[in-house]
Formats: sequence, structure tokens, C-alpha cells
Amino acid sequence: TITKQQIVQWLELSAEIFKNEQDFLTDLDREIGDADHGLNMNRGFKKVKEKLPSVADKDIGTILKTTGMTLLSSIGGASGPLYGTFFIRSAASVMAKEELNLAELTKMLQDGVDGIVQRGKAEVGDKTMVDTWNGILASLNTNQDITLYDALDGAVTDAEKAMKGTIPLQARKGRASYLGERSIGHQDPGATSTYLLFSALRSASA
Ligand code: ADP
Ligand code: MG
Ligand code: MG
Repeated sequence: TITKQQIVQWLELSAEIFKNEQDFLTDLDREIGDADHGLNMNRGFKKVKEKLPSVADKDIGTILKTTGMTLLSSIGGASGPLYGTFFIRSAASVMAKEELNLAELTKMLQDGVDGIVQRGKAEVGDKTMVDTWNGILASLNTNQDITLYDALDGAVTDAEKAMKGTIPLQARKGRASYLGERSIGHQDPGATSTYLLFSALRSASA
């Protein structure tokens, strides 16, 4: 299982990672966007970290919902509403829970990703964060009979493949799509931040 304390650790670790990787993500976004993705993620998760002490003793659903609302109000651009929606929707099935087993965690992530897709209308292969989320969910769904940590560990490997898999693709959603064929050959910033966010979940669940 993953506990509420580990969910809080996940979000704190994410804030740390997005601070350290701000320039890396912004450089990726400079290639095919407007050079603000690292800034956006760092700003949003810094706010989340500030907010955590006030909800750390609440249930997992409340923690996730508060995270989503904080991201929604503090990140501009495409990624704010998308990550905001992810966390708000992921909260729905875990309200009042203090820990989650692998099936519950998978459902939580699936609900969040359904929210991203409903909001952003991206399909797999459009060169967005949805590509990485799809790799993660496909991996978790085939690994429901191993330990939670091993399943997350395997899904991090598949997330990395999906993230790298955005390099040869032409963007069909978001700012990068304005570049047409010139978006080919660059790793998608949002696919990369999703990889970093999910790696932090794996680390926090150890
Ligand atoms: P903006 O492009 O508005 O500056 P960001 O730079 O913060 O926002 O985020 C860009 C990332 O958002 C992209 O790399 C992509 O992964 C993701 N993205 C953009 N549009 C969509 C969409 N419609 N669906 C899913 N993800 C999207
Ligand atoms: Mg941008
Ligand atoms: Mg922007």
C-alpha cells in the first residue's frame, strides 16, 4: 500500500524536483514552445508545498483536491488547467482514504488522466503529457499482481520510454503544434514533467 504520509512526501519531493529541473524543462519548452514550462511547474509546486502543512492531516482525497486547486490557480498556460484537473479528478475515488492499494492507486491515476483527456482532447501520439500517462497506465494495468512498489518501478521505465517516444513525433496539440513538422526531433516538455512527477511517486512509495 501507499500511505497518506507517502502521498504528502510525493508532493514535497515533486516540488523539490521541479525546482531542480526548472531550467531543463524550460529549455525543452524553448525548443518547441514559449520557454515557460519549468517556470510554470516550479511556481505551481512551490505553492503546493506551502499549502501542504494545512492539509497534511486530512485524508488522501482532500490532499489531492487541494493540490489540484492550488495548481489550477497558480500555473498559467496549458499545463496549469491540465495538472490541476488531474489532481482534482484523481481525488474523487480516494476521498476519506488514509492508504491505497495498487488497484486503488491505479484507479486514482486513471481518473486523473481521464480528466486531462476530457479537458485537453489530446490522443496518444499527439506528443503531449498524455503519451507518458498512457505508458504509465498501460504498464500498471498489466502489473496488478506484483507489489505496489515493483509496479510503480516498472511503470517508471515505461514512462521514460513514452517520454522519449515523443521525440520523433509531430505535435498535434498545444503550442508545439503551431510548429508543424518543425516540432519533430524534440522531447515534449509536458511528457517530461509527467515522467518526473511519476518518478517522484515511485520514490515516495519505497
Ligand atoms: P503553454 O504551452 O501554455 O506555455 P506549458 O509550457 O506549461 O504551457 O505546457 C506545455 C505542455 O502542455 C506541452 O508540452 C504538452 O505536454 C502539454 N499540453 C499542451 N496542450 C495539451 C493538450 N491539449 N492536452 C494534453 N497536454 C497538452
Ligand atoms: Mg510553455
Ligand atoms: Mg506559456
